[in-house]
Amino acid sequence: MNPTGNVTARLPFPTAAARELADLQLRANLHKATRTIRGKRERVVAEVPDWEALRVAGAAIKDDALARLPELLERFDAAATAAGAQVHWARDAAEAGRVVTELVLRTGTDHVVKIKSMATQEIGLNETLAAAGIEAVETDLAELIVQLADDTPSHILVPAIHYNRAQIREIFARRMPGVDLATLTDDPPALAEAARRHLRRRFLSAQVAISGANFAVAQTGTLVVVESEGNGRMCLTLPQTMISVVGVEKIIPTFSDLAVFLQLLPRSSTGERMNPYTSMWTGVTPGDGPQQLHIVLLDNGRADTLADPVGRQALRCIRCSACLNVCPVYERVGGHAYGSVYPGPIGAILSPQLTGQAAGANRTLPFASTLCGACFDACPVRIDIPEVLVHLRQKGVDEARGRPSVERTAMRAMSWAMRDRRRYRAALRTARRAAAPLRLVAGRRGTVRRLPWPLSGWTASRDAPVPPRQSFRDWWLTREDGGDRR
Ligand code: SF4
Repeated sequence: MNPTGNVTARLPFPTAAARELADLQLRANLHKATRTIRGKRERVVAEVPDWEALRVAGAAIKDDALARLPELLERFDAAATAAGAQVHWARDAAEAGRVVTELVLRTGTDHVVKIKSMATQEIGLNETLAAAGIEAVETDLAELIVQLADDTPSHILVPAIHYNRAQIREIFARRMPGVDLATLTDDPPALAEAARRHLRRRFLSAQVAISGANFAVAQTGTLVVVESEGNGRMCLTLPQTMISVVGVEKIIPTFSDLAVFLQLLPRSSTGERMNPYTSMWTGVTPGDGPQQLHIVLLDNGRADTLADPVGRQALRCIRCSACLNVCPVYERVGGHAYGSVYPGPIGAILSPQLTGQAAGANRTLPFASTLCGACFDACPVRIDIPEVLVHLRQKGVDEARGRPSVERTAMRAMSWAMRDRRRYRAALRTARRAAAPLRLVAGRRGTVRRLPWPLSGWTASRDAPVPPRQSFRDWWLTREDGGDRR
C-alpha cells in the first residue's frame, strides 16, 4: 500500500474530470443533492446573528491548537491514559494500518463494525484489514451503500451522494444478504429499514468497533463523534473493544471549546440547528461500554503541512463539507475526479500537502478550482482556500522551474509588452488583426469553440471570446470631444 494511503490522485484532474463529466446521471444526482444541502445550510446559518463571530472563534481555537500541537498532544495522551485508554502513535497510513490490524487480531475476532471515519478511509484501513482476513462492516448508511456497491466515497459527509434513490434500491437488491425484496421500494424509510435490519445483526455480534473522531479534547482526553443516525452510538456501547484512529489536527485545547464547534458543525454540514447524536467518551468505565479503548494518533503528512505558513490553515478543517456543496467544479465533476478520499476544495489543498505535490497526479489538484471564493465564504473555520490554492499552484510552478513551460513563456512575453505603453498598444493592434479570421469563425456568437495548439488547452473546457474590433482607448479617442488626451 502507498504509505500515505488513499490521498493520491492517479489521474491528472483534467483527465478524471472529463471522464466524470460524461456521466449525465451523476451530474443530475449531484446537482439535486448539493442544491438541497446548500439551501438548508443557508437558511439555518442566516438564523444565527453572531455567525461571523463564531467563525472567527472557531478559526482562532484551531490556530491556537495547531501552534501548540506537540504540547496539546502530550496533554491528550496523558489524560486519556489516566482515564484507562491506550494511546498509540502512527507516522503514516501503513503504520496506522499495522497497529490497528494487530490490535484486532489480538482480540481473536475476524469482523469489526465501523463508524464513518475519514481517517480510516484515508489510511485504507478496510483493505488492510481484509488482507489480514478481517471483515470491516460500515455502519453509516451512506458508507454502507458505497461498500455494498464496491465503490469509493465521493463526498466527505454524504459518501454516496452520487447515487439516487432508485440506484440505491438496486444496490441493496443485488448486494444486501437476506434483503426482503417484497418490501424494498426506493422510498427513504424502506431503504433505511432494510439497512437497519442488515446492520442490527452485525452490531449484536461485533466484539470490536473502529471509529474516527471529530474532536479530541486535550484537557480531558475525551474523543467526540458527531453523527446523524445513531450508528456511532451503537458502536460505542455494544462492542468490548474500541479502536479510534484520530488525525493529530483534531486536537482542541479544552472541553469548553466544543461549545463553538458544536454550533458551527451541524449548521455547516447537514443544515441542522443541533446535531442528532453527539457521543463523547473518555477512557473506560468498568461495566459500562467498551472495556478496552485504543487511540491511534495519526500524523500521515500533517507535520509537513503544519510547516507551511500558508498551507497549514487546511488543518483547521472540521470536515463539514460546506465547501464541497458550494463549489461549482465539485457540483459538476463529483468527488471521484479528485482521486483522493478528500474531494472538493478542501481536498484540492489538503491532499497535495499530505502527500507532497510530487505524489501521483496531486500536483494538478490545486488547479481544480475557478477561484470564485464561494468555499471561503462557506467555511465555518474561515480557511482561505483560494489563497492556499494559488500558493500551491505557485509552489508547483516553482518546483518545475528550469523547464520552460508554455504558460511561463507566454506570461513573460505579456509582462514585457505590458511594461511599455507603446508596446502594449502595438500588441493589442496585432492581436486584433490576428483575430480577424477568428471573427469569421465566431460569427454572431462572438466566441470560438476550438483554438489551435497551444491555445487548445484553453478551449478544451470553455469557449474563447474573440477580441473586439476596437480597443477601449481607440473608442475613447473617437468620441465627439476627441476624448481626454491628458
Ligand atoms: S474546508 Fe471548511 S468548509 Fe470545507 S470541509 Fe473543511 S471546515 Fe468545512
